[in-house]
Amino acid sequence: MIRDDLENPIVVIGAGMAGLNFIRDFRKLSNKEIILIDQSEKKVYSKPQLSNFFKNKKTINELVQLDIEDFCLQNNCKFIVGRVDHIIPEKKLILFQNKQEIIYENLILATGGSAINPFNNLKNVYSYNSLDDLSKFSKQLSNKKKVCILGSGIVAVELANDLIMSGLNLDVSILTRSKNLLEYRIPEEAALSLQESLIQNNVIVHLNADLKNISNAQDQVLIQTDAINELYDLVIVAYGIKVDFSICAELSKEKGIRTNLYLQTNLDCIFAIGDCVQIEKLYMPFIAPMLSQSKALAMTIAGTPTKVHLMPNPLNIKTPLCPISVFGPYDQNFYWEKLSDVSWVSKNKNGDLVGACLIQEAARDLRIEMQEKLIPFFIKEIGT
Ligand SMILES: Cc1cc2nc3c(=O)[nH]c(=O)nc-3n(C[C@H](O)[C@H](O)[C@H](O)COP(=O)(O)OP(=O)(O)OC[C@H]3O[C@@H](n4cnc5c(N)ncnc54)[C@H](O)[C@@H]3O)c2cc1C
Repeated sequence: MIRDDLENPIVVIGAGMAGLNFIRDFRKLSNKEIILIDQSEKKVYSKPQLSNFFKNKKTINELVQLDIEDFCLQNNCKFIVGRVDHIIPEKKLILFQNKQEIIYENLILATGGSAINPFNNLKNVYSYNSLDDLSKFSKQLSNKKKVCILGSGIVAVELANDLIMSGLNLDVSILTRSKNLLEYRIPEEAALSLQESLIQNNVIVHLNADLKNISNAQDQVLIQTDAINELYDLVIVAYGIKVDFSICAELSKEKGIRTNLYLQTNLDCIFAIGDCVQIEKLYMPFIAPMLSQSKALAMTIAGTPTKVHLMPNPLNIKTPLCPISVFGPYDQNFYWEKLSDVSWVSKNKNGDLVGACLIQEAARDLRIEMQEKLIPFFIKEIGT
């Protein structure tokens, strides 16, 4: 249900790309009061650009597009810095950690996900999910030599590729308990191509590595597994993100906050977009789905209920040493089928095409063709 209590504002929690895009889209349609909340003083930037930061030899300031104050001036909204502690949906009330309160008309949750880092109490161990994170560890790199990236997902492999091509002359290692890089996202053969490309460029890859100990040894970080006992100057934890549901216990949730195709949660007047949302069965914490969500939700909140139009968009993994483009897989139960040395599709138990992995030249040449082949599954399963 959308409410139209003129005296109360539309409140957006989260000034990441999802929250900001929603405000831009909504402002084209309505002049209603908007309050934007974030737990920290934000800069406006494009998160995917973090992955090429070292190779492109940028400065942190060059990544910043706008200060949040300028964004708010341009989009006529008010910004409040503060961590939202919880929401009381029956009263349409937001409570901050500092006990401040706000009543909303409609609430947009754009709270993203937080980086998983069980070791953030250690010196020279960093997370990697924001410009703030990057700015903390990038400062350290000029006088460091041995860097270890924990994890083997998209952010981990992109960072390894970026650091090794940075010209900083670093020894870069990836350490993961997985048996392959990008396990579950790409087939083993494609993972081996990526691994080979990284190894040929001097990245050390430790697979099947069960971390037995990680601790500080003076200014360095000691990492011990069954196979290694190594000191690193700097460790970056790239274990992915976790959605924080503590803001409201009554929200329906799974991998993300569950919504229908209107981005409406199970609670009246509360909607979700971006990395924090799971739309029906689909959890897609990426830019293209977020942009479609933002447009649809802006229409809905402005008074025209609009379903999100999702497409099977490729995710282009920024590993120029071995370009990779992936779709899905959009079904949890799938198997890989090889088409050629550079292309694979994934299918579910009914034989429906539910994903694809393209590498090297196929990542450039076959994307559009593959996207078209995946559309029928989207229409059948997702209904968009
Ligand atoms: C290095 C990197 C590279 C990427 N590259 C790509 C790419 O190439 N293509 C692609 O599609 N996607 C990419 N992604 C993913 C993409 O960037 C994200 O999907 C997108 O930026 C998420 O935006 P968001 O606004 O939903 O979340 P976030 O950016 O996480 O923003 C959420 C905001 O909510 C605030 N917040 C959370 N809880 C509270 C609270 N309780 N109170 C107040 N504020 C709160 C946080 O402070 C944060 O500012 C990449 C991600 C990373 C880390």
